[in-house]
Amino acid sequence: MSDCIFCKIANGQIPSTSIYEDDKVKVIFDISPATLGHALVLPKSHAANVFEIDDELLAHAHIVAKKVATALKEATGCKGVNILQNNGEVAGQSVFHLHIHVIPRYDDDDAHIKWTPGTQDTEKLAEIAEKVKAVL
Ligand code: AMP
Ligand code: ZN
Repeated sequence: MSDCIFCKIANGQIPSTSIYEDDKVKVIFDISPATLGHALVLPKSHAANVFEIDDELLAHAHIVAKKVATALKEATGCKGVNILQNNGEVAGQSVFHLHIHVIPRYDDDDAHIKWTPGTQDTEKLAEIAEKVKAVL
């Protein structure tokens, strides 16, 4: 996609500090990091989100995210890592080229990746389960 910033970064048309690169993905540091070392795994080919991306490319990107998480843990001394990925504006996606966040976590850091635990609606969930099974 000619006007996609992550296409340009992943394919070298916009310079970036890359911590890992292969023929399918590039890994950069987030410009507005949640914590020190927050990295993004960018596939080199464009897909807006999880609903569009090729399965093998997504699997590869996740394997790279695991390797980067392990390396960041070693490099930063963080105590844990969140690996997450937003799909759609309502889910918090702001750049519409799929990317995987790798966020090192420290005691008392300022990343707030939490929700209020709710309660299950068993009737609705039974309905959803039937519909999901029909699709899968
Ligand atoms: P999301 O909200 O999941 O779409 O995440 C987009 C992320 O991309 C945010 O954390 C931004 O800070 C980050 N970001 C946006 N533009 C750039 C850029 N030019 N270089 C690095 N990270 C960026
Ligand atoms: Zn793109």
